[in-house]
Amino acid sequence: MPGRGNLGDLLERIAVGIEKLNEPPPPVEIEVGLPICPVCHEINPRVTTAEQGGTGRMAEIYLEMKCDCGARIYGAPVQWSMHDNTDTLRAELVERIEHVGNGRIARDGL
Ligand SMILES: [Zn+2]
Repeated sequence: MPGRGNLGDLLERIAVGIEKLNEPPPPVEIEVGLPICPVCHEINPRVTTAEQGGTGRMAEIYLEMKCDCGARIYGAPVQWSMHDNTDTLRAELVERIEHVGNGRIARDGL
């Protein structure tokens, strides 16, 4: 049977644990940036994706791609821009590529 000191220690540890539950979770560090191949470092490289099928939550989606440099690379969308049609999506991608720089999405995408 635990002595009074042990019980006090246990209660104190429980109290500390409960206080920690009320603290906000530590921030998750997500590196966000331009679409750059981590191997050849080309900005907005041309890639090939495989049909990946499957079902799941949008926040858990990632893409497996093969860069034209030959490397197999992986990427996950950090934010989404949602559309209910491809016209507004296409217009947004054309605008976006102007910021990325090489125009490949506008010519070869969609
Ligand atoms: Zn590459």
